[in-house]
Amino acid sequence: MVQDCIFCKIVAGEIPSKQVYADDLIIAFHDISPQAPTHILVIPRKHISDMNEASAEDQALLGHMMLRAGEIAAEAGLAESGYRLALNTGPDARQSVFHIHLHILGGRRLTGQMG
Ligand code: AMP
Repeated sequence: MVQDCIFCKIVAGEIPSKQVYADDLIIAFHDISPQAPTHILVIPRKHISDMNEASAEDQALLGHMMLRAGEIAAEAGLAESGYRLALNTGPDARQSVFHIHLHILGGRRLTGQMG
């Protein structure tokens, strides 16, 4: 757990979240400021700041996040209508929380922007 990391605090249960999925490696919860009718975040329990910090040892974890995100999207009813998986890294991508996370966005026709 990294001090002052809001997502580490969510993993630890110190900050509440509307959780939709959890296993021993990852959790998923609703974004606090949704940019689409469905906006869920999938995060690893392990603190990885961003893709720049991810390494080969995280390969299985990142694959697990991606595959579970697809299942979570399907459970949210998005399989047919479609959805976007987004992972922002750094200032040009407007990353605001430096604990790696996948956004699941769907429920309406998305624009070229985040939502
Ligand atoms: P990013 O800009 O890619 O770093 O995305 C960070 C996301 O985390 C934003 O969509 C925020 O709305 C979301 N967020 C920040 N704090 C919380 C929180 N306490 N619970 C749920 N989502 C949050």
